[in-house]
Amino acid sequence: MEISFAGKRALVTGAGKGIGRATALALARCGAKVTAVTRTQADLDTLVHECASIAPVCVDLADWGATEAALQDVGPIDLLVNNAACANLQPFLEVTPDKFDQAFSVNVKAALHVSQIVARGMKARGSGGSIVNVSSQASQCALRDHAVYCATKGALDMLTKVMALELGPYQIRVNCVNPTVVMTEMGRLGWSDPEKARTMTSRIPLGHFAEVEDVVNSILFLLSDKSQMTSGVTLPVDGGFLAC
Ligand code: NDP
Repeated sequence: MEISFAGKRALVTGAGKGIGRATALALARCGAKVTAVTRTQADLDTLVHECASIAPVCVDLADWGATEAALQDVGPIDLLVNNAACANLQPFLEVTPDKFDQAFSVNVKAALHVSQIVARGMKARGSGGSIVNVSSQASQCALRDHAVYCATKGALDMLTKVMALELGPYQIRVNCVNPTVVMTEMGRLGWSDPEKARTMTSRIPLGHFAEVEDVVNSILFLLSDKSQMTSGVTLPVDGGFLAC
């Protein structure tokens, strides 16, 4: 399937590493003018070195005011990927308020805030647009030590549906992708132990974790006109995990 984003302007959060970085590069390859947002300048430096057309924005998305200031001059955006997230694994009985607040600030509040900024522009221009929120299989299935992470992703799924409801009249589509484990820096945090990894892969009908490319391809599909009648969905990229 040929997808072109020529003439489109895209913004990707958490574009310094992993899925976000690969998404930013794929969008640029498909012709989009990409703004990459993340909080580590060194990651943006290497990203721009890899693809000179990408515009970098360095900000901690947990900081509402700093995000507002950093994105005020970003210009019109047609395609938004809310990908940035943190995963602080703690057993339920040991969850701390600082980790709880950090996770909800980045994984939920920042997705809402960046979407507000971008969607207000889409509405004012009457241009429509497409937003993809990167959720997780963890939004719909309990995972040990993931209480806060699961709760943030459950919230993100529901936020996506309400955004689809309220932004639909402006021809703005909003969808989620919900991947299984991907061996990025975040994936390695929870699943490097081979025994633990085996317990997870044994529950995935296809028998293996997802690759970064699997997630990127689903994001590109949902951003593109190939999914122009799809809004409010949570699309598993999980080898069948959530079906069982
Ligand atoms: P990585 O940890 O590899 O990359 C996350 C990126 O987000 C980094 O560039 C990170 O920057 C950035 N980021 C995190 N917090 C902030 C912040 N406060 N402000 C700005 N940028 C921030 O994660 P993945 O690529 O694995 O994950 C991407 C998405 O996919 C996330 O939403 C995750 O929940 C989801 N997902 C991942 C799975 C996996 O197994 N990997 C499975 C299912 C879903 P920095 O490194 O500087 O903190």
